[in-house]
Amino acid sequence: MSAASDHIRVFVPTSLNELLQTFKAYPDAQVYAGGTHILSTRNTPYARLPEKVLSLHQVDELRRVTRTEKYIEFGAGVTLRRILDLGPKAFPAALFEAIQTLGPLGIENLATIGGNVCVSGRLMTLVPILYLLECRLELRSASGARWVRIGRFHDTNGTTVLEPGEILTRLRISPGHWNRQAFKSFGTIYLSETDPLVFCGLAHVDNSVLADFRFAITTHRPSFIRNRALEAELVGRKVPLAKRDYEVIEAGLAAVMDEQSIPRRTIQRRRAVRLTEWFAQQLR
Ligand SMILES: Cc1cc2nc3c(=O)[nH]c(=O)nc-3n(C[C@H](O)[C@H](O)[C@H](O)COP(=O)(O)OP(=O)(O)OC[C@H]3O[C@@H](n4cnc5c(N)ncnc54)[C@H](O)[C@@H]3O)c2cc1C
Repeated sequence: MSAASDHIRVFVPTSLNELLQTFKAYPDAQVYAGGTHILSTRNTPYARLPEKVLSLHQVDELRRVTRTEKYIEFGAGVTLRRILDLGPKAFPAALFEAIQTLGPLGIENLATIGGNVCVSGRLMTLVPILYLLECRLELRSASGARWVRIGRFHDTNGTTVLEPGEILTRLRISPGHWNRQAFKSFGTIYLSETDPLVFCGLAHVDNSVLADFRFAITTHRPSFIRNRALEAELVGRKVPLAKRDYEVIEAGLAAVMDEQSIPRRTIQRRRAVRLTEWFAQQLR
């Protein structure tokens, strides 16, 4: 199904198959989920659609949420409101909190989980927590399907690895066994001058021992600040952590931030350390 005005052509497929065939025929069409990112970044004095729009709204297959013992799966077109309506117990608390704090009130009615991940050029608010939850993405085109880890979905410039004619169809996370979770965000994601930073932490504490621990931080740069060697070093330690554990955290973070050329003595660097240490203090 398609509608046209003088300059804008809108395709509104009603099945996944029709969507993929339409995208094959018009690979230059802009995939349009909630449109909240697309319209907010169009450089026009008023909201104006791209010339060819491929709407996901009528594709039921993209609007499903499935839960099994091993994973939770979201259709890419599931709105953030729908996820919030399922309640805080249905998902890892840090994911729920990330969705709650994303953007101005009301945006969750339109914005989709897939649209958040597919933004090119930067890692949006939900990406680091999905990364910690080992999210895998199903990408489909008219010629087939593939699964990609979210950590490999954006290249070093932040560009997504989506090929022409390819759509993100499903996101699969593993809920895990986390009994300590944290999510914090600062600044405005679109404005680097506000020093945006997102912190996510997940841990499992068992009998006063840190049985599992991971954290990820993102800024306006399209990369994750994460140090798996540091995480592994802390696993098995007694909680509350000792003074020397905090020294390990500081050194491990400094190493990864130096590697990514994040300038020293910046607010983002200080926040990254403080938040990781703050999360470490919650582990008791
Ligand atoms: C005032 C304002 C504040 C905001 N603040 C935040 C914030 O703090 N944090 C944050 O993360 N976001 C923020 N956003 C951006 C946006 O609302 C969210 O990122 C939202 O989740 C995007 O989802 P969407 O469905 O609206 O995506 P859309 O705008 O429809 O699409 C985003 C991009 O992904 C592509 N796309 C969408 N779905 C698919 C798919 N299934 N397959 C392939 N490509 C696809 C589109 O072509 C487009 O390039 C803000 C937006 C506004 C207007």
